[in-house]
Amino acid sequence: MTAPSLTFADFQLSPEILKGLEEAGFKNPSPIQAEAIPLVLQGRDLIAQAQTGTGKTAAFGLPAMNQLKHTGRVEVLVITPTRELASQVSDELYRLGQFAKIRTVAVYGGQSISRQAELVRRGSQVMVATPGRLLDHLRAKRFGQFDPAVVVLDEADEMLDMGFIEDLEQIFTYLPKERQTLLFSATMPPLIRKLAEKILKDPVSVKTTSNVTTSKDVAQRYYVVREHERAEAMIRLMESENPDKAIAFCRTKREVDALHQSLLALGYAARALHGDMEQRQREQSIQALKKGEAEILIATDVASRGLDVTGVSHVFNYHIPLDPESYVHRIGRTGRAGQKGIAITLLSSHEYRNLKRIQSVTGANIQGDTVPTLQEMEELKDQKLIHSLMAQPARQGAWRVMKAMEGQIELADLANRALSLLMEKSESGGSDQIGMSLAELARLQERGANYNDKPGRRPYGKFRGGPRGKGGWKKEGGWKKEGGSGGRGKTGPKKPRN
Ligand code: ADP
Ligand code: MG
Repeated sequence: MTAPSLTFADFQLSPEILKGLEEAGFKNPSPIQAEAIPLVLQGRDLIAQAQTGTGKTAAFGLPAMNQLKHTGRVEVLVITPTRELASQVSDELYRLGQFAKIRTVAVYGGQSISRQAELVRRGSQVMVATPGRLLDHLRAKRFGQFDPAVVVLDEADEMLDMGFIEDLEQIFTYLPKERQTLLFSATMPPLIRKLAEKILKDPVSVKTTSNVTTSKDVAQRYYVVREHERAEAMIRLMESENPDKAIAFCRTKREVDALHQSLLALGYAARALHGDMEQRQREQSIQALKKGEAEILIATDVASRGLDVTGVSHVFNYHIPLDPESYVHRIGRTGRAGQKGIAITLLSSHEYRNLKRIQSVTGANIQGDTVPTLQEMEELKDQKLIHSLMAQPARQGAWRVMKAMEGQIELADLANRALSLLMEKSESGGSDQIGMSLAELARLQERGANYNDKPGRRPYGKFRGGPRGKGGWKKEGGWKKEGGSGGRGKTGPKKPRN
């Protein structure tokens, strides 16, 4: 993600800011940083477009913090769509600005209004805010004189999704006319362009990708399953992929809770993240994933906007997202900072058209694949068992038991029984094959864009297993009512970790 020939020392940045960069371990500027930093330092208004994970925060943060005049008031205002993003951006700016003694304040809902106002009046130079709470403060005039010289709209396209445009227009009526305005976004939908025309003065546009695209470092696969097979498919894929850190995206809060419960029941260190949770709980979930205490975070789109967690090896789309931009954002949670990532999308045959749309808009190369069969899962489990047996140190107590049984039982018989004991909990059930086979996928691809999904028609193939007749074809979310995990057999106790 970097332009190796250039270093941060090539910009006119203060020694204190350069020290912050060194501490953060940033060596070379990313392409968007290389383009944006000089323009911001020149005082230009800017429209900057770059994929997620390309370092947009530092692209505006470094030059904005470098220009502080220390007026005793807020000089840089960053507006972000969500609380999580506000807290993340303010952490990053704090990290980069700490040696320049820059104080940042995060202003968002769910926290004490009076404390925020006090922090602002006590002389924070940088404010990171979400639109709703900011507007609330501005209307009540709680900040005293408020005249930031630099105003940044971060992740602007997300604000569109969340219907913040009116709030933003209101906010700008409280801001000084004389200001530098910067707009950063992963994508540039027409409404954001319109907003930019209203609030920016003679802006320069920079863009580091020619189109909305997903990173080349992310291998993308899709699986076509029936509604009632989703949970089982998800679990088989979790088992077979064995991710270091994963984020699974669901459509609804209820779906998040249900999948969370299913994974917890199977022994996964899983956490949930959605808008109905308290701010503190949300932060705990994010921290757990960051620290590696959780291996999978199950989230809604809204709650996870812009989340920056390093080392996410897998992104799961439990449901394919409806629009291509959401897909790009989700996939952007992995393959960050040049690391490799895997993105797995589950869809029903009804949702195949969404896949086609995402592929055509983003140019993403998403390959169809088949869910591991029960037999393959068994083999995988056997391999894991063998692996953990080989890694298991011999215990004193075990020798004692063996001694006590000497002469009563053949060694092979003993071994078999001991293994049986270990495997007892992992008897598998459910259908051998779930999801579309390769042949079925090929047929679906052939039917392609004009795929016709008449309601009530079986999406594909022959019905296997499960209750007979129409009852077996549940519509949306049917798996939840089928006892948590869609009638699957257990895939065994928690996979052995090595
Ligand atoms: P974006 O806003 O474009 O999605 P972020 O600003 O959140 O991206 O940056 C993504 C990650 O890359 C963060 O962890 C950030 O600390 C890191 N990062 C940003 N710029 C650099 C750089 N020049 N060198 C190394 N890491 C960087
Ligand atoms: Mg960002």
